[in-house]
Amino acid sequence: MDGIEAVGDAVTGGLLARAVEPQAGEADGRTHEKSCLNCGTPLTGAYCSACGQKAHVHRTVRGFFQDFVQGLFNFEGKIWRTLPMLAWRPGEMTRRYIAGERARFISPVALYLFTVFAMFAVLNFTGALVPNGTKNLPTAVKAGIADDKSALAKLETKRQLAAAAGKSVAELDAKIAKRKNDIAETEKVLSGAAFASTDGGDETPNWVRPLIKNVQENPDLVTMKIQDAASKYSWLLIPISVPFLWLLFPFRRRYNTYDHTVFVTYSLSFMMMLVIVGGLLVAIGWSALAGFLFFVPPFHMYRHLKQTYELGRLSAILRTIALTSFAFIAVALFAAATVAIGAM
Ligand SMILES: [Zn+2]
Repeated sequence: MDGIEAVGDAVTGGLLARAVEPQAGEADGRTHEKSCLNCGTPLTGAYCSACGQKAHVHRTVRGFFQDFVQGLFNFEGKIWRTLPMLAWRPGEMTRRYIAGERARFISPVALYLFTVFAMFAVLNFTGALVPNGTKNLPTAVKAGIADDKSALAKLETKRQLAAAAGKSVAELDAKIAKRKNDIAETEKVLSGAAFASTDGGDETPNWVRPLIKNVQENPDLVTMKIQDAASKYSWLLIPISVPFLWLLFPFRRRYNTYDHTVFVTYSLSFMMMLVIVGGLLVAIGWSALAGFLFFVPPFHMYRHLKQTYELGRLSAILRTIALTSFAFIAVALFAAATVAIGAM
């Protein structure tokens, strides 16, 4: 046994020594090769002409981190080139990307995935998606009912005073009736009576009922599952949206599905960035400014469409109106899909 262990030690020791102290030919921690280490093609320059790998690869811990940092800065350099373009000249960037300037900008899909990740991180961090929000929902609704009831009491006092003074009470009566109706409706929803009835008078389709029951019984879990589905299936928004672009440009053969996909993916990434900015603004208490962001998407869509597809002003305005409506439909379809998946 001793002998075998000694041999084993010698072997691992030798390997360790080789790894720690590079042998001749890799004294500086580099390897000098005549052919590509990745695919074997003879080297003619600093990069392999067949697969693109660097001719010299590092084999040091420093090199390991240099690769990482270089990748990071490469991404960073591109993102600082991509984001301002996406914000101010989205159509120009989309057109240049489609025309072939692929290495200059972050690719649409990479940007999209990065943005989805950042959006969920920011919304989670700022508490916008904390499941506790739903845990407190019944409490919030009860507080709303209490408010309504105190307002109702004030209205009734006012009515008594008005009646005693001989004034008209018709307007107050209408307000009182509306308040009472509001309270009754809210209490019905809170008790689940609005969904629970199973007679023919209820318009809730049968397949929806178990989902609603699930939400009522375990709102936290359902919220988490919906969030999970929304992040996992976020890519679905792209294929959902592309057909709407076909509808926008039915007779334009110049622009194909690839072009529309690039357009849609960059556009959706920008909209999610607005959500990120909005979430951050709300988190620091600038809700009014965050509300202003709701007006940004149509302007962005207009500029993006106009520049990408080289449209005239009127044509771009009409298509922006159509695209805004389509966007609501696409988001509604996506929301329905994720809620259904989450509540299942
Ligand atoms: Zn190669």
